[in-house]
Amino acid sequence: MSGAGALQVTTPQAGESLQETLFKPPGEPTRGFVAGDGSGAAMDYAYAWLKETPWALIVTDARDPSDNDLVGLPGSVSSAIVAFFVLTGVVILVRARQVVSKQIAVEQHQAELSGHLVHAAKLASVGELAAGIAHEINNPLAIIAEEVGVLKDSLDPALADEDDESLDLEEHLNIVHDAVFRCRDITRKLLTFVRQTEVRVESHHIHEILDAVLVGILGNELSISNVEVVREYDDRIPEILTDRNQLVQVFVNLIKNALDAMPEGGILKVATEHRDSRASISVTDTGCGMTAEQLERVFMPFFTTKEPGEGTGLGLSVSYSIIKSVGGICYVDSKPGRGSTFTVELPYEIE
Ligand code: ADP
Repeated sequence: MSGAGALQVTTPQAGESLQETLFKPPGEPTRGFVAGDGSGAAMDYAYAWLKETPWALIVTDARDPSDNDLVGLPGSVSSAIVAFFVLTGVVILVRARQVVSKQIAVEQHQAELSGHLVHAAKLASVGELAAGIAHEINNPLAIIAEEVGVLKDSLDPALADEDDESLDLEEHLNIVHDAVFRCRDITRKLLTFVRQTEVRVESHHIHEILDAVLVGILGNELSISNVEVVREYDDRIPEILTDRNQLVQVFVNLIKNALDAMPEGGILKVATEHRDSRASISVTDTGCGMTAEQLERVFMPFFTTKEPGEGTGLGLSVSYSIIKSVGGICYVDSKPGRGSTFTVELPYEIE
């Protein structure tokens, strides 16, 4: 800048050559710094008068407007906008935190509630089962208590009945024996419920398992019954991955029930069929069949229509849970007086 205030050499931001400068540095001191007042155009200036000529060198902190979105706005407005955004950000952050923690609390509460519900449902079914067990085991226990009482009395000379010398010890002991074995039968079957998770999966041929039941385990019973056994096996069925012992138990239950339904004899048909990725095994009898009410309850624990001492009502419920544990399904079709068909579908591989 010349002494008259005309710009000599300049940058485009500071103005054009020979234009009058906005800032005229004072003569004294010969060099210095003048701070801007913060109101847009007024910048910070540093200056120095040259020694030999009446010219001064001026440096400003003028910034390119594009460097800052807020250039051109008064400082108080830009501060207000920044403050507004910061405040809005803080409010959003706090609110978001509140919403998230509220959501977490709601979800925790829901999880607790459904946990309580599951627990309550488990307690209810355990309670139902316990009531059933108590009822089933109380009967044979009452029989044992009564028979032991009779036997004890027979040993007491004071109670000996002179006329009655014919107390049949063996008969009373047999009743006790049967009652004890009935209790054992019930507890054994209940253990299957507990052990149902211990599945031993190996490759087996379903026809070999069925023959083991029909010829081996129930062979004698079938041979003295008046029941004709018909086997219709589908040779397309490959070996399947399953738990052999548990499946044996299922087919023993189904075939025994079929025999019980045909006390006068009839036809027992065991058929298999290859269905996509599953083997279907059906056990059909020509026995008494079931009413709609019986069909509804047939898989429930302790449902039985058999005489006391002959059925526990656990065979089908245990079978059902075994089939489910190896990934299969079980269903029944029956008509009173026309017989029943129980069908088991097993996947070739347990998913
Ligand atoms: P249980 O044989 O000890 O009674 P299950 O659970 O095996 O127990 O069977 C329950 C009931 O289902 C039987 O008492 C019987 O009434 C009915 N049931 C099962 N299988 C047959 C069948 N093949 N024909 C007619 N009724 C059946």
